[in-house]
Amino acid sequence: NAKAAGRRTVKIFTDAMAECLLERVRLENDLREALDARSGMFVFYQPITNVESGQVVAREALVRWHHAQRGWVSPGEFIPVAEQCGLIHQLGEFVLLEACKTAQTWPNKETVAVNVSARQLGQGTLLPVLERVLAHSGLENHRLELEVTETALLSEEVDCVTELRAVRAMGVRVALDDFGTGFSSLSHLRSFPFDKIKIDGSFVREAAHRPESAAIVNMIARLGHTLGVTTVAEGVETQQHLQQVRDVGCVEVQGYFLGRPAPEEADANAVANLSCGALALELRLPDQI
Ligand code: C2E
Ligand code: MG
Ligand code: MG
Ligand code: MG
Repeated sequence: NAKAAGRRTVKIFTDAMAECLLERVRLENDLREALDARSGMFVFYQPITNVESGQVVAREALVRWHHAQRGWVSPGEFIPVAEQCGLIHQLGEFVLLEACKTAQTWPNKETVAVNVSARQLGQGTLLPVLERVLAHSGLENHRLELEVTETALLSEEVDCVTELRAVRAMGVRVALDDFGTGFSSLSHLRSFPFDKIKIDGSFVREAAHRPESAAIVNMIARLGHTLGVTTVAEGVETQQHLQQVRDVGCVEVQGYFLGRPAPEEADANAVANLSCGALALELRLPDQI
């Protein structure tokens, strides 16, 4: 009868919710363990190339997590979990220190770009963390660049702009990531002097077949020139993408066509062993999941 069916429906619903919650708690615990034990956590680096000289001028640090049972878990999945449970601070400092220590060994002294989540801003913790990792690694401040997304700047209760000004005053650079995807990208350029604008890969990839996207990439490149801000085209996957963003005057390029995110020499063996597990899923490279 209806009442029984109703009750059953409710039961199924709560079971699904409970399972979902449990799944989340498991992921959170596993993430905490991985960070505490420093196991399964890697930082990969993807080259950022000057479009005219073809030289690699910077590398973006991208965190990778290999879970003992699940295989590679993408940052799109675990970063939000880390943000919500507060582990983002520990994760963020791990990536920053790892990236600065690694960059310190690069003979060509490229810049290292590190993503910083909204939760790491406006807490008063960023500057001390930066001072720690820079002192510990010995990296020159100007070789570190923080990538922040628009959402990081949207919060009204905390003043991220003042904090980012202090970051820049230290000589650390600041880039605006995923430019064009937010609701008010342009207004952020007015409130803070970014060193770089990263054009979101979705525009770059679509530019080949959508005139609207091509026009947006063109507009951002011109804007960069006018403001004296370096523009980087993300998501360059083909020769055609490269040609197109070069033609409109983007200064730097990043994407699979130029190079995929990859581990440093020291981690390469460990990563290869993990990636060759018996599970088909694990045969995929971490930047393809
Ligand atoms: P993002 O900062 O915009 O990074 C670029 C993303 O695009 C990376 O995905 C990269 O692997 C991918 N990518 C690079 N070239 C291409 C290409 O040619 N085509 C396509 N389709 N994709 C390309 P990934 O590593 O999965 O990271 C996703 C996002 O997760 C990042 O976006 C960033 O917002 C966040 N993230 C990654 N590492 C960290 C970290 O250490 N800390 C924080 N807070 N966030 C991170
Ligand atoms: Mg980024
Ligand atoms: Mg981006
Ligand atoms: Mg992104």
